[in-house]
Amino acid sequence: MFDTAAFDSHESVHFVHDEDTGLRAVIAIHSTALGPAAGGCRMWDYADSMAMTRDVLRLSQGMSFKNAMADLPLGGGKAVIWGNAKTDKTPELFRAFGRAVEGLNGTYWTAEDVGLSPEDLAFAREETRYVAGLTDGAAASGDPSPVTAEGVFRGIKAACASALGAGEMDGRSVAVQGVGHVGAGVVRKLRAEGAKVYIADIAAEAIAQLADETGAIPVNVDDILFQEVDVVSPNALGGIINETTIEKLNCKIVAGGANNQLHAPEFGEALFRKGILYAPDYVINGGGIINVAAEISGNYDRAWVEGKLSTLVGTLSEIFERSKAEMASTNRIADEMARSRIRAARIG
Ligand code: NAD
Repeated sequence: MFDTAAFDSHESVHFVHDEDTGLRAVIAIHSTALGPAAGGCRMWDYADSMAMTRDVLRLSQGMSFKNAMADLPLGGGKAVIWGNAKTDKTPELFRAFGRAVEGLNGTYWTAEDVGLSPEDLAFAREETRYVAGLTDGAAASGDPSPVTAEGVFRGIKAACASALGAGEMDGRSVAVQGVGHVGAGVVRKLRAEGAKVYIADIAAEAIAQLADETGAIPVNVDDILFQEVDVVSPNALGGIINETTIEKLNCKIVAGGANNQLHAPEFGEALFRKGILYAPDYVINGGGIINVAAEISGNYDRAWVEGKLSTLVGTLSEIFERSKAEMASTNRIADEMARSRIRAARIG
């Protein structure tokens, strides 16, 4: 395990088992150099414990990078619970998970991820205070999506300024894939500033309602990524920049909130070679974790969140400029910046 690429110098990996509740979880702490490790907990019916461990290591390293690039006083960690989120959940299971988190004495803060709900977290919270993303309580930050959407919107403007010479959205065209919590927010902001917006979602009713409300133009889900537009904004799924899609892209910028947009890092290099500016996903979608960090600080402060969002957009612009100057892909530049921020904090 120590020699696998996925391990990537994790500080510690904790295998948790609770006989009474059947809990099997792994909590991975990639780095606490910048502060306590923070990252959500995912519940998934993994094929085996190796698949589970690989997933948590990959996600935990991703949180280190995301938190570092959002300039947060947080390291990176993640937890996974092995089980079916539809059939295997019990309050006792999440209390047992909460006790495991408590046992780490605040080196890891948990939150919601795929398969978990705020109700599940509330059970964990009975056993530990190291839970963020709650819907009530003194510092509760609530739904992070509006802050994520604001960061993505500003990131799109920064990308337009870098690639097209001006950040104004009036007259620009954007194709938005996925109009859920994040995507719909991005569409509203783009339309409010005069952009021509194409939208697609597998949920037909969401499309009809948003088109009606904003004047955005519905497009077939299979065609949305290939529109001839200034910006493609993925806000649904991961892995959408891949062998099949990359040749058909007809845009100048890819900038959206979805996690893991590149099927593999080499597709970031391919975008660079095609002259398409890619906003690294874990940087542009950092608004959500900024919101959660405000909750972890114990004193949710909107002005602090706003300051961090501005810094985030500045970081994105720096990545774009370095990419031009160093003739290197933006995803590579972002990874290097994240690693050097973590290294600098470790050295002190
Ligand atoms: P969501 O579930 O509210 O929205 C996703 C939308 O994508 C849904 O409307 C769904 O119907 C649609 N969709 C699914 N498959 C599709 C397809 N093949 N084609 C078109 N549309 C499709 O989720 P969300 O909270 O808006 O998050 C969107 C993305 O952003 C995810 O990748 C998520 O991990 C990432 N993200 C979200 C946040 C946040 O604060 N919510 C923060 C960081 C990253």
